[in-house]
Amino acid sequence: MKEENELRQDLVDAYLTVDKRGLMNQASGNVSCRFRDGMLISPSGADAENISADRVVYVDGDGNYSGDIKPSSEWRMHLSIYKKQESANAVVHTHSDYCVALACHNLPLPGFHYMVGLFGNTHVPCVPYATFGTQELGDGAANALTHQAVCLLGNHGMIARGANFKVAIDHAERLEIICKHYVLSRTLGEPDYLTDEQWDEFFGRAKKVAYSSFI
Ligand code: 13P
Ligand code: ZN
Repeated sequence: MKEENELRQDLVDAYLTVDKRGLMNQASGNVSCRFRDGMLISPSGADAENISADRVVYVDGDGNYSGDIKPSSEWRMHLSIYKKQESANAVVHTHSDYCVALACHNLPLPGFHYMVGLFGNTHVPCVPYATFGTQELGDGAANALTHQAVCLLGNHGMIARGANFKVAIDHAERLEIICKHYVLSRTLGEPDYLTDEQWDEFFGRAKKVAYSSFI
């Protein structure tokens, strides 16, 4: 079990990594990790300049926090995911470009490419719009993330869970890349989709190679 100070620094490093990979779009996202019966989460209004280990906020399992620094406004969404999904130890939320492009049309990401399967399902759903910071948004995201590691958030962005920060960040970046591929693919018309049989074969094969670490 890591010490709190070490986890606070991990969270800062994770935030900066997401920012460096171009997914934060002017400080529009937030990151958290499971801690005690709750979580550590980036402060509301975090950006690459102001985030620091001592500004990371602890929110307990009942949603309580203390001190002057407010947790991310999306703490309900993060906490709901930890409560629903035992295997989740880190969560990343972003407004990255191509995820937002699909989410603003309330489009799921369909199974047009086998890499979609690396999130654990044959498609990525888009949760209906709900106001940021609400329990309604939190419940929608937490329910969606029981079936795969990521989902799109209608008229908003995306959220990813992982067993640790590396997995959650990689999922967030992978989703952005695959959404970009889908948008490009749609410019040529309707792409082909993998069939049920092809998905069965994919999941059977993926379990035997390095892809198994994702799903
Ligand atoms: P915070 O700055 O409060 O984390 O909010 C950003 C955000 O993404 C709201 O959905
Ligand atoms: Zn957001």
